[in-house]
Amino acid sequence: MGEKVSKDLQQICHNNRQGGKVIYRTAAAAEKIRRRSSVKLFVYHCPFGDHFHLTSKEQRDRVEQPPSLGTLRRWLENQSKVIAAQQRRLDAAEVKLAEEKKRAEERQRKAQQEHDEELAAINALVGRLKRV
Ligand SMILES: [Zn+2]
Repeated sequence: MGEKVSKDLQQICHNNRQGGKVIYRTAAAAEKIRRRSSVKLFVYHCPFGDHFHLTSKEQRDRVEQPPSLGTLRRWLENQSKVIAAQQRRLDAAEVKLAEEKKRAEERQRKAQQEHDEELAAINALVGRLKRV
């Protein structure tokens, strides 16, 4: 690359375990070199300082940028929606359970009433038979 390299690009990151890498102050500066390279390169943010490097290895040394505030907010909003939906399902289940319980109690009450009526009918029949 016969291009005159700027002073910024000549600086080396010595914190890197690979023994020193060219520092790019901005992702754009690194990107400019990356585009001109005949080798496939990747720009990544240095884990040791606020600058960028190039690497030929896609994953190695790549540091995920922290999620943006907007991303975090969207994630949080989505979580809130999930929780709200779960709460609604839970409320609905509780309502359903209360209805089931009420129906069961009603069935129980009705069965008891029928039993009482049956008993009364039998007693009446027995009383009539006695009189005969
Ligand atoms: Zn570095």
